[in-house]
Amino acid sequence: MNNFAYARASDVADAVRRIAADPAAKFIAGGTNLIDLMKENVEHPTQLIDISRLPLATVEATRDGGLRIGALVPNSDLAYHPQIEARYPLLASAILAGASQQLRNMASTGGNLLQRTRCYYFYDIATPCNKREPGSGCSAIAGLNRMHAILGTSEACIATHPSDMCVALAALDAKVHAGPVGPRAIAFADFHRLPGNMPQRDTNLEPNEIVTAVELPSRGFAANYTYLKIRDRLSYAFALVSVAAALELDGGTIKEARLALGGVAHRPWRDPSGGQPANRPSFTRAADHLLRDAQGFAHNAFKIELARRAIVRALTQAAAGTPQSQSNKKIR
Ligand SMILES: Cc1cc2nc3c(=O)[nH]c(=O)nc-3n(C[C@H](O)[C@H](O)[C@H](O)COP(=O)(O)OP(=O)(O)OC[C@H]3O[C@@H](n4cnc5c(N)ncnc54)[C@H](O)[C@@H]3O)c2cc1C
Ligand code: SF4
Repeated sequence: MNNFAYARASDVADAVRRIAADPAAKFIAGGTNLIDLMKENVEHPTQLIDISRLPLATVEATRDGGLRIGALVPNSDLAYHPQIEARYPLLASAILAGASQQLRNMASTGGNLLQRTRCYYFYDIATPCNKREPGSGCSAIAGLNRMHAILGTSEACIATHPSDMCVALAALDAKVHAGPVGPRAIAFADFHRLPGNMPQRDTNLEPNEIVTAVELPSRGFAANYTYLKIRDRLSYAFALVSVAAALELDGGTIKEARLALGGVAHRPWRDPSGGQPANRPSFTRAADHLLRDAQGFAHNAFKIELARRAIVRALTQAAAGTPQSQSNKKIR
C-alpha cells in the first residue's frame, strides 16, 4: 500500500497551482486508467488532484461552426450527444468501439487522451520497461510483441497508443486546449509523441498543464466515414489495428481523404491525401503509402497485411456511405 494525499480542485487555476506545487501529484478524472496503474504499482503519485467536478463537462458551439468538448465530458455522453451523432458520427463510432458501457460512463474526454499504453510489460513491474523506468530496457522488442507497433518505433520502445477516440480525433484534425500556461491549442497531430529515446513521455503536454477541452473543426465528414476496429474479441478488447476513414467525394473522385490508424504506433498514425478516384486501386495505393515504412517484429508482422486490408475495407465502406459499427449505437 502506497500512501497518497487527496485534494479536490476548486477550479482550473487551483488544479494547476496544486500540480505545479507537487510534481509527483496526478490529476484524476474518471480514474478508469490511473487507479488500475496505481493498484499495479506502476504509478505512485504522492497526491491525487481530483478534477472530476470542475466545470468542464459541456459541449459548446465554436464561432467558426465547430464544437468545443470540455475535458470532463464522459465518453458515453459524447458518443450520444445529438451534435456528435449527426455531424461527427466517425467520432461517435470510435468511442463506442472502445471499452464497455460502464467504463465509457466513467471515462472522460481528457483522460481518454492521456490513457497509457496497454503493453503487458509496462504493467508488469517485474520486467524491464523504458517507459515505466527509463534506461531499464524494453522487454517487448525481444519478447511477446503481438500487440505492438509497426510504425514509428524506436530502439527504446515499441508500444502503441490504445485509444479509439483519439484515432477519430486525429482524422478529424481536432485541437487539444491546455491551460493555463498560455492557454494554448495543440494540433492533434502534435499532441501525442513517438517514443524516440524518451518513451516515458506520451504527449507534448507540459507537466503542470491540464487539458481543458478538445475542439472539433466544422467539417465532420458525416456522409462518408468509417471507423473499423479489428480486435481479438468483438467487445472489451483493444485494437490490433483500427482505421478512421473520412472522405469528401465529388462524384466518383475523392476531393479529400482523412485516414488515421490506431493500434500500430505510439500515437494515432495520420496521412492526409486526396485527388484520387474513389476505387479499389487507389484505396490500395493509399494503404501502401500509409504503410510504406511499416516494420514488424517476431509476433506482429501480420499487422502490416491486416492494416493494408483494413484500410482498403474502411475506405470502400466510407466511399459507399455504409459505415460499420452502427449496432453499438442502439445500446444506451
Ligand atoms: C478494461 C478496460 C478496457 C478498455 N478498453 C478500451 C478500448 O477498447 N478503447 C479505448 O479507447 N479505451 C479503452 N479503455 C481505456 C479507457 O477509455 C480509459 O481508461 C479512459 O478513457 C481514461 O479516462 P479517465 O477519465 O478514467 O482517466 P483517468 O484514469 O482519470 O486519468 C488517466 C490519465 O489522464 C490524466 N488526466 C485525466 N484528465 C486530465 C486532464 N483533463 N488534463 C490532464 N491530465 C488528465 C490523469 O492524470 C491520468 O494520468 C479501457 C479501459 C479498461 C479499464
Ligand atoms: S514497448 Fe515500451 S512500454 Fe512496452 S516494454 Fe518496451 S519500453 Fe516498455
